Amino acid sequence: MLKEEKGILYLVSTPIGNLGDMTHRGIEILNSVPLVAAEDTRQSRKLFSHYSITTPLISYFEHNRFSRIPRLMEHLNHGKDLALITDAGTPGISDPAYRIVREAIEHSINVVSIPGPSAMLAALVASGLPTDRFIFEGFLPPKKGRKKRIEKVKGAEATIIYYESPHRLARSLRQFYEILGDRPAAVARELTKIHEEIKRGTLSELFAYYDQNKPKGECVILIGKNDENVYF
Ligand code: SAM
Repeated sequence: MLKEEKGILYLVSTPIGNLGDMTHRGIEILNSVPLVAAEDTRQSRKLFSHYSITTPLISYFEHNRFSRIPRLMEHLNHGKDLALITDAGTPGISDPAYRIVREAIEHSINVVSIPGPSAMLAALVASGLPTDRFIFEGFLPPKKGRKKRIEKVKGAEATIIYYESPHRLARSLRQFYEILGDRPAAVARELTKIHEEIKRGTLSELFAYYDQNKPKGECVILIGKNDENVYF
């Protein structure tokens, strides 16, 4: 008996705000696969309606992963392709896509990346901080373990990148200042959206600013090494 060929898992990057940033190839893939797994199907419907994509959507998120992964693997094992998208940006960067990629590899399924926007890279290149070496730290734990994680990167000779929610931004900036010292830094907020903003300064200046001006929207924090050559 001939072995059935497996489907391909496509990781399709989607915009981080501005719908115009969707790639041509990403749209082609989303149109051509029989099923798209999305983190939040309501969110993804906005993208689908903007580009008149009618492919069926199935939800896949952190808390339904135990029941969903076997179903999605069955789909792929039956020779059908699947595209995976998350709420924004590149699937797998601080979102649940990683687990499904691991599982697909276990099943010897071909995983294909369709590159596109990611908040961390968009923020890094516009920050003015060195881009030759950087460490992506993702989200810090909200409560316990933050100090330990920050201390681990203290000696790094690289720009350090964090994702952060707006209501924790000022508190995090203060904690970075207390542990890392008054380094050059930047906060990139609402990238690609109407109220896009990049503020540059030292950690204490940025803390003072955001303590007074409560921010809204999504943020990336970038911190330089202790380097007298970077002035803002
Ligand atoms: N996979 C996404 C990527 O490739 O960037 C990241 C997903 S993570 C769940 C969401 C976080 O990314 C937000 O909390 C924020 O820190 C950052 N982010 C997403 N969109 C952003 C934007 N337009 N401007 C600034 N930061 C953004």
